[in-house]
Amino acid sequence: MTSYADFYRRSIDEPDAFWAEQAKLIDWQRPFTRVCNYDNPPFVHWFEGGKTNLCHNAVDRHLKDRPDQAALIYVSTETGLEKTYSFAELHREVQRMAASLQALGVQKGDRVLIYMPMVAEAAFAMLACARLGAIHCVVFGGFASGSLASRIDDATPKVVVSADAGSRGGKIVPYKQLLDEAIRLSSHKPQAVLLTDRALAPMTMVAGRDHLWSALRAAHIDAQVPCEWLDSTDISYTIYTSGTTGKPKGVQRDTGGYAVALAASMTHIFDGRAGETYFSTSDIGWVVGHSYIIYGPLIAGMATLMYEGLPTQGLDKQADGGIWWRLVEKYKVTAMFSAPTAVRVLKKQDPALLKKYDLSSLRALFLAGEPLDEPTARWISEGLNVPIIDNYWQTETGWPLLTVANGVEQTPSKFGSPGIPMYGYRVKLLHESTGEELTQPNEKGVVVLEGPTPPGFMQTVWKDDARFVNTYWKTVPGKMVYSTFDWGIRDEDGYYFILGRTDDVINVAGHRLGTREIEESISGHAGVAEVAVVGVADSLKGQVAMAFVVPKDGSVLGDSAAALKLESEIMKRVDGDLGALARPSRVRFVSLLPKTRSGKLLRRAIQAVCEGREAGDLTTLDDPAALQQIRDRVQAG
Ligand code: ATP
Ligand code: MG
Repeated sequence: MTSYADFYRRSIDEPDAFWAEQAKLIDWQRPFTRVCNYDNPPFVHWFEGGKTNLCHNAVDRHLKDRPDQAALIYVSTETGLEKTYSFAELHREVQRMAASLQALGVQKGDRVLIYMPMVAEAAFAMLACARLGAIHCVVFGGFASGSLASRIDDATPKVVVSADAGSRGGKIVPYKQLLDEAIRLSSHKPQAVLLTDRALAPMTMVAGRDHLWSALRAAHIDAQVPCEWLDSTDISYTIYTSGTTGKPKGVQRDTGGYAVALAASMTHIFDGRAGETYFSTSDIGWVVGHSYIIYGPLIAGMATLMYEGLPTQGLDKQADGGIWWRLVEKYKVTAMFSAPTAVRVLKKQDPALLKKYDLSSLRALFLAGEPLDEPTARWISEGLNVPIIDNYWQTETGWPLLTVANGVEQTPSKFGSPGIPMYGYRVKLLHESTGEELTQPNEKGVVVLEGPTPPGFMQTVWKDDARFVNTYWKTVPGKMVYSTFDWGIRDEDGYYFILGRTDDVINVAGHRLGTREIEESISGHAGVAEVAVVGVADSLKGQVAMAFVVPKDGSVLGDSAAALKLESEIMKRVDGDLGALARPSRVRFVSLLPKTRSGKLLRRAIQAVCEGREAGDLTTLDDPAALQQIRDRVQAG
């Protein structure tokens, strides 16, 4: 067995040989003639000359060996629907969808915008686009009309695929209405809209434009639509980043490189095996949903569990904090993928729920999307008794760049660290102002990548090569490196620790502190459920840290003596861990924190409110009440 160190070294020293080897994990209709073309940095073309298809690799390829095996397991605790599609059934549904899209005029290279809740039809639509070589652009279903309109204008889709409504904790979200309003607002008008009717909300059909999936499906019930063989470098999809730091960026991805990257990651990182079940609790609106609900598990020949609903509600719509564990038992899930924010929700549930089900099928829980704080990691790790594998990546990278590759070699994880650089990624730490490479352990710097970036990485910003180069590759004077806009440190064993976003660095009297470090210290206090730290302008010190804490015991909110006591304990703790400079000037208590729809802290909005500025672009804000609470607390002094 190869050691991971050798595996990694080969990926960096002999990338062509390494990736040609990985490329065997997928089917090619025509072999590639060149592995990596990096003639025009920072643009990379992977597997030039090769022809393949994502849908073929995810679906058709498995028809020979496992036609009747589960491919898509759909569970909605919002509607009570639970349904399993075998590979053969999925193949038929995808062809019906592909034929319907063709009937609406969709051809290779056309954009299809998918604005859908977590329904099986959304998976059919993504796979159908891949089948036809149409470029899908999935927009998270929680977005309102304004955000949707700006994405319609950017993607200029020929067809939009949507539904009457979604449902969140029993609350109906009228997608069709929101879409109609978005199309009214946008300058680009899609030629057709294809709608799934879930009978959750009324729909006003626009004659000539709107079509029902049920009708088109029936008309194409026996459709046979072959896969369009695409150049490896043809675009598979575009997707927007979460918008945590500013205006979302339209990330564009290729076909062959992405398929190879996912297939390799399923083997080396996620240890997913054909015939087993994979459960990612994310949403198709995010990159995790693209890579690890739809394409990755299916390419690996696994069944993928697609889930609509809260983690705390059962199929009978009654409160059930054990629903995910119930599903792990029922479908013998071997690998599960979630986010720290979801685990923090579960942490508030009865811990006995973790012992109630037979979770022996589960080999690991993967978590990504935001920093995994140690108390949360310890809690879930003790509860499940399986490895908790943090993995750090971005919409831009498409798959993890820091984690451990237990499929190559069992590697210990360290609490607080997502892990070590993954094969193919040339990860470096650079000094924030001088741009010099940091080679000593435990020095803080910006996490960057040197080119060529590996397969699966974004090709460019959709329709905007200049924005791609200028935004990501020109932040360090005199060097062309990709900036992650996150900063971190590397310890003596080569493990990275992510300290937060580069714009989350606080400068207190000339000392640079990461908000993440302060948050990590505060969240270690037993009375703290969640915390956000931001830097606020201060005339004397430049900036000071301000902490917003969700206490475990809600009664602290209405009890000023208890609040004062907790505040002073928290300050003492930070003094002890990091020194008095890092001590927040104030700790304020709130019942919830402002987050993006993807569950990430919106620090920039908190910071703006603290400094009395406009909060800026709030289209990705989940719950306006959370930001209002911050505003009220700040105003109360
Ligand atoms: P935008 O780029 O539009 O501001 P975003 O960066 O939140 O939005 P994503 O691509 O969804 O959009 O998120 C990637 C970011 O999430 C990373 O750059 C990092 O800051 C954070 N992140 C993801 N996984 C981890 C992890 N395991 N540990 C720490 N941070 C993580
Ligand atoms: Mg980002």
